[in-house]
Amino acid sequence: MRYSNYINGEWLEPVSGEYKNNTSPHDNQVIGEFPASTEADTKEAIDAANRAFPGWKKLSYQQRGAYLLKAAEILDKNAEEIGRDLTIEEGKTLKEGIGETRRAVSILKYFAGEAMQPTGNVIPSSNPETMIYTKRVPLGPIGLITPWNFPIAIPVWKMAPALIYGNTVVIKPADLTPKCVYHIMSAFHEAGLPKGVVNCVFGRGSIVGNELVENPDIKGISFTGSNPVGRAIQEKAIAKGKKVQLEMGGKNPLVVLADADIDKAVDLAIKGAYQSTGQKCTATSRVIVENGIYENFRDGLIERTQALKVGDPLSNDTFMGPSVSKNQYDSVLSMIEQGKKVGELLCGGGVVEESSLDKGYYIQPTIFALSDQNARIAKEEIFGPVFSLLTAADYREAVLMANDTEFGLSASIWTNNLNRAQQFIDQIDAGMVHVNSETAGAEPQVPFGGMKNSSAGPREQGKTAIEFYTQVKTVYYDQ
Ligand code: NAP
Repeated sequence: MRYSNYINGEWLEPVSGEYKNNTSPHDNQVIGEFPASTEADTKEAIDAANRAFPGWKKLSYQQRGAYLLKAAEILDKNAEEIGRDLTIEEGKTLKEGIGETRRAVSILKYFAGEAMQPTGNVIPSSNPETMIYTKRVPLGPIGLITPWNFPIAIPVWKMAPALIYGNTVVIKPADLTPKCVYHIMSAFHEAGLPKGVVNCVFGRGSIVGNELVENPDIKGISFTGSNPVGRAIQEKAIAKGKKVQLEMGGKNPLVVLADADIDKAVDLAIKGAYQSTGQKCTATSRVIVENGIYENFRDGLIERTQALKVGDPLSNDTFMGPSVSKNQYDSVLSMIEQGKKVGELLCGGGVVEESSLDKGYYIQPTIFALSDQNARIAKEEIFGPVFSLLTAADYREAVLMANDTEFGLSASIWTNNLNRAQQFIDQIDAGMVHVNSETAGAEPQVPFGGMKNSSAGPREQGKTAIEFYTQVKTVYYDQ
């Protein structure tokens, strides 16, 4: 089937007339043909968003919220079908695919609920005759550039706050997962959103994404993806006077102290490292354990990892599916080869060689024991089912190792010692800290974001979303 861009409330062919096949990472079956759009398509979408902005911002919050609720209802009704398409397109398991779609439903509902929340403050004045208050106003058309690893949840967690606070949007979804965003657009279309309020242009980042970043009518860019791309976008967008929000990579540590519940920590290390094939920005990628429990912990990890079922993500008993693409597969395998030169391979270490999976990008869940915390595999984001196991003499050394990275997205500590947990919360440089839980996890009502090279700009989701998607007006009102 051939899909179209969604511009000004209509499904439009790209002006180039060119399309690109999208295929499944499980077996390479063709999913559909998606537009290879140009700057001209992108400009048309931006014009539509610009024209729709004055009318959309004039609606009440509740009126805008009603559209979000309607879209939520439509996504919810179709969650099984959409979740299945997500699984076929991205490769995460069916449970995760449907779970992610339902999470998008919750996000829409949460931000519809924000329509009932105060958005400004009344501030006492030194003059009894003066009332001072702040109000939040939208930015205008916003450009959203999204990755393939949460192809439903991330677009929705950007669109929902953008819309509720009165902005219009143009989204450029990841080239690898367009069908997921096609489903979101269909839900908004069916919900009857006014023309031009949401627009979607399929195509390459360097063409469509770049036009969003460069075009003066786009007032803000919210980007989720890799560091190099994010930083390049930031530089250009700031030079053009745009507001920028970046969510980028992670190298998330899970620290296990000797007094921890070892079985539970092993379980959640495995879950954090291998769910979604390790393709989460919050995936566990360094496990740092205190010396005294190393052997026990290592043996538990190996045993659990070897028992994981890797295979067709649509099968109910599969724990882990394929990497998303040939590029990602090659990049992860090359990091595994790096690992073999510097570390001890504890399990995995190659491709899955079952004939039923020979067309897909299947990699074995892999663990390296490392003595050098500066090895590339301990420093760079791998974005695949691979993690490093390191040892620390004590808590002090563990936290130093945990912080020894350019990233600061998420971190976890396992201990029953309340003081240690509190110390870790204070000392770890991470935007999200977990105590006795996995490094991954994000709920719609909770601010999401990192420190250091993981994020830039205001946080996404929860009460903090308003900071990016609005600007503040201060009003002095003399009676
Ligand atoms: P990516 O290669 O940086 O791509 C992200 C988006 O940027 C895609 O839509 C891409 O389009 C677009 N893009 C590429 N070049 C561009 C350019 N020159 N101008 C404008 N847009 C451009 O990242 P990815 O491989 O899709 O996603 C994986 C990365 O995302 C990982 O590093 C992961 O940690 C990060 N991530 C972070 C979070 C978080 O919240 N912190 C969440 C999820 C993922 P194309 O698809 O056409 O290349």
